[in-house]
Amino acid sequence: MRCPYCGGPDTQVKDSRPSEDSAAIRRRRVCPDCGGRFTTFERVQLRELVVVKRSGKRVPFDRDKLERSIDVAVRKRPVDPERIERLVSGITRQLESSGEGEVASEAIGELVMEGLKGLDDVAYVRFASVYKNFREASDFKALLGTLGGGQELPPDEAAPDTVTPIRGKRAARPRQ
Ligand SMILES: [Zn+2]
Repeated sequence: MRCPYCGGPDTQVKDSRPSEDSAAIRRRRVCPDCGGRFTTFERVQLRELVVVKRSGKRVPFDRDKLERSIDVAVRKRPVDPERIERLVSGITRQLESSGEGEVASEAIGELVMEGLKGLDDVAYVRFASVYKNFREASDFKALLGTLGGGQELPPDEAAPDTVTPIRGKRAARPRQ
């Protein structure tokens, strides 16, 4: 970090310790050029995410809105609310840690679809049909085709993300 006194480029960290009940790191720095001493703090910054809609319009990311759209998809389906909560939190964290300040609404839609695919087939199809704005029956067929996965995966009782069989065929989401 640049020295605030002389503008020297190479200040050195002399001491580094937790601060603010470990919510921050406090560093004492010294400038080898002028001998100036100063303190810096390192803190977590959860970024302000901006969603870029298909229209190009930018709106702040809204976790509640994400949760509502998922709630609509899983309405009256036997899905544990705790798993929905975990899905919403997981997506939010993925977006926050992606390193991007802006995220396309399509990318969020894909994450939701991926998550719902592991939770409940009906909710997945409901969400996808709204999200992808289906008009043709063939769109549904193509989507249902993706549920089969084509490949038989071994049953894993511990896997929380195994979906219920559809049309007599076991469908599973690939492990991530
Ligand atoms: Zn200096």
